[in-house]
Amino acid sequence: MSAFPGLPTPPPVGTSALPAGTFEGTSVFVTGGGTGLGKAIASEFARLGADIVIASRKPEHLEAGEQSITDLGARVTTVECDIRDPESITTAFDAAEAAFGMPSVLVNNAAANFPVPAEDMSPNAWRTVVDITLNGTFFVAREFGRRHLAAETPASIINVGASYAWTGGPGFAHSAAAKAGVKNMVETLAVEWGPYGIQVNGLVPGLMPHEDMTDDIQGNLVRTHDKDAAQPALRVGQRQELGWAATFLASPFARFISGHTLVVDGANWQRRSLTNPEVITVRDQMGRGPFEP
Ligand code: NAP
Repeated sequence: MSAFPGLPTPPPVGTSALPAGTFEGTSVFVTGGGTGLGKAIASEFARLGADIVIASRKPEHLEAGEQSITDLGARVTTVECDIRDPESITTAFDAAEAAFGMPSVLVNNAAANFPVPAEDMSPNAWRTVVDITLNGTFFVAREFGRRHLAAETPASIINVGASYAWTGGPGFAHSAAAKAGVKNMVETLAVEWGPYGIQVNGLVPGLMPHEDMTDDIQGNLVRTHDKDAAQPALRVGQRQELGWAATFLASPFARFISGHTLVVDGANWQRRSLTNPEVITVRDQMGRGPFEP
C-alpha cells in the first residue's frame, strides 16, 4: 500500500454538479446503455430529468438497463438494435421518436473488445471489433445527424472512446485502431456539423471496473495485482465520474466545447516511468504459451 493519498475520492453516486432538471424534456439515446459504463452514463442523465432510450442487441441487457432507469424514477424505453446494421439503427430511431420525440443527445457508447496478441487475432476477430466499434459508431452518428439536419434542430453527440486511440494498445490491436478512428471521427463531424448546431465530442474512460465486464477483460484485470496502486491516482475510476463528464459535455454549459475528446482517467494514459521497466510480451502478460502458427 502506498504512503501517498492519491487523488481524492469523488462524491457519492446520486449527487450532481448540474442543476436539477437540466435534461427535463430531453431524450437521450444511449447505445449499449444496458450494461456497465453505458448504464452509468444513462443513469446520470436520468437523474437530471432526461428520458432515456437504450439500444443494444440482447434482451437481458435491455431489461437490466430499463430496470436501473425505472428505479431512478425516470422514463425509459428500450429497443433491440445491432449498430452494425444501418436498417436496424433507422428502426431504433423511429421507435425512439415514437416514445419521447427526437432524441437530442446521442451517447455512442456500444463497442466490442477482447484482449488477444496480434499474431493470434483472426481476420474475423479484427473485422467484428472494427465493424461494431468504428463502423457502428459512425452509422449511429450518421442516422442521428441526418435527422437533426432535416429537422433543423440542435443536438449533441458523445462518442465513447479509449485512450489507446492515441497511444496504441498492446493486446488490443483491433479495438485500439477502431477507437483511433472514433476519435478522428469526432474531429471531422464536429467541424462538418457545427454549422447546423450539432456539437460532437469524445469521452474516454480510464479503468472503471464494473460487474458487466466480459470474462476476457476481467481475466486481464485479475492479472493486474493491485489495480489501485497501478494508477497514478492511486485509485481506479468510479462509474459516476464518467457519467458526470458526459452530462456536462451535453449540457447547456458546454455548448462551445466541440471536437474535443475528454479523458477521465486520473492521468493514467500519460504514465511514463523514469527508468524503463523490463519488457514483458503481451503473450506472457496474458499467460499464453509460445506462439503456434
Ligand atoms: P460493456 O459492458 O461490454 O458494454 C458494451 C455494450 O455495447 C453492451 O451493452 C452491448 O450490449 C453493446 N453492444 C456491443 N455490440 C453491439 C452491437 N453490435 N450493437 C449494439 N450494441 C452493442 O462495456 P463497458 O466496459 O461498459 O464499455 C463501454 C464503453 O467504454 C465502450 O465504448 C468501451 O470501449 C469504453 N471503454 C471502457 C473502459 C472500461 O474500463 N470499462 C475503458 C476504456 C473504454 P448488447 O450485448 O446487448 O448488444
